[in-house]
Amino acid sequence: MAHRALIIGAGGVASVVIAKCCQNSEVFGEIMIASRTKSKCDAIKERLQPTTKTVISTAAVDADNVPELVALIKEYKPEIVVNVALPYQDLHIMDACLECKVDYLDTANYEPEDTAKFEYSWQWAYRERFEKAGITAVLGCGFDPGVTGVFSAYAQKHEFDEINYIDILDCNGGDHGYPFATNFNPEINIREVSAKGSYIEDGKWVETEPMEIKRVYNFKGVGEKDMYLLHHEELESLALNIKGIKRIRFFMTFGQSYLTHLKCLENVGMTSIEPIMYEGREIVPLQFLKAVLPDPASLGPRTKGKTNIGCIFQGKKDGKPKNYYLYNICDHQECYKEVGSQAISYTTGVPAMIGAAMVLTGKWKKPGVFNVEEFDPDPFMENLNKWGLPWEEEHDPVLVD
Ligand code: NDP
Repeated sequence: MAHRALIIGAGGVASVVIAKCCQNSEVFGEIMIASRTKSKCDAIKERLQPTTKTVISTAAVDADNVPELVALIKEYKPEIVVNVALPYQDLHIMDACLECKVDYLDTANYEPEDTAKFEYSWQWAYRERFEKAGITAVLGCGFDPGVTGVFSAYAQKHEFDEINYIDILDCNGGDHGYPFATNFNPEINIREVSAKGSYIEDGKWVETEPMEIKRVYNFKGVGEKDMYLLHHEELESLALNIKGIKRIRFFMTFGQSYLTHLKCLENVGMTSIEPIMYEGREIVPLQFLKAVLPDPASLGPRTKGKTNIGCIFQGKKDGKPKNYYLYNICDHQECYKEVGSQAISYTTGVPAMIGAAMVLTGKWKKPGVFNVEEFDPDPFMENLNKWGLPWEEEHDPVLVD
């Protein structure tokens, strides 16, 4: 049966979600693209409508304006709202969903605009209200967070009696040819990578300086890369939802040029989120920096190479120690050929479409607010293979020390 979805945002990730919904017209019979800048929604519609049976409409909406969003939801009557705007909008969109009793899905947890701090507490505080309203919220359904949680639930269900260690490895072996650019929204990306690192050990957060812990790993499809320990949102939920966890870490690869540029920008104050006065006007240095950096959507045609993102699990099965690695390799240029975007937007947008389809088809439908690992991973894993993110597994992987 075909369903109706409202997609908020018209950026890099949104354009992949929309392209994949259009490929999956059996589930997504009608979609509305609503974002701050309507011309971007119209441009996506113009490109995709001739290629699909999905009926696309567009609207302008400021998702921070709850009454405006409520009016749009009441008029369009979607069964789910897919939030692929920015993390700042999460709570406002959840408020609107509650008021209209409509399911909700996002790809990144809430972050207040004035503090670079992201954690689930704000969204988990909606659990009871969503439960009472009988609606489902799926949090963090991109790749990481998202597929990493599904991989963890799958490993727990099929491969282990107990998982003790998880290392999430996010490798981008892509080269866009610019000395410095970010692969998704520059403001969100730089806030994430310039923050202190952290990991969870024995139930406690251990904090590190930014980029303090470095390891080298040889990624299939990419080769050897330097990777650095970062704080990442799924650590918080996986530590609670996966049985027997002793330690969980997240590593992301960065090239030397990216790190040198970032250090320099930090040293001169360009990554600050504290507003300053400039020629009689208040500006936020990081937002100004975003305006001068390449738009991540423009990287698609120039990016060559592959991403390899996955999880290495260590634990026990039938009383014996066991290691297991689940990952996906994605090719930037193949993604561009298929949907006109690079692999970072692709690896986020495809899981968001799959997650929305899981809710719409009733496979992931239960009242409350959930992280992806709290649902049955099997139908999602099948859909990853079907919709362009096939996964691979290794039973004797090289471990990270
Ligand atoms: P973009 O900056 O490309 O797109 C954001 C879109 O949201 C833009 O179209 C923007 O509108 C719109 N928007 C911003 N504010 C509002 C508002 N108040 N009301 C309505 N629309 C608004 O970002 P990306 O596509 O790169 O990222 C989207 C999300 O995906 C982010 O939350 C990011 O953190 C997340 N992400 C998650 C990943 C994962 O693996 N889980 C990986 C990568 C990203 P306008 O065009 O007017 O600016």
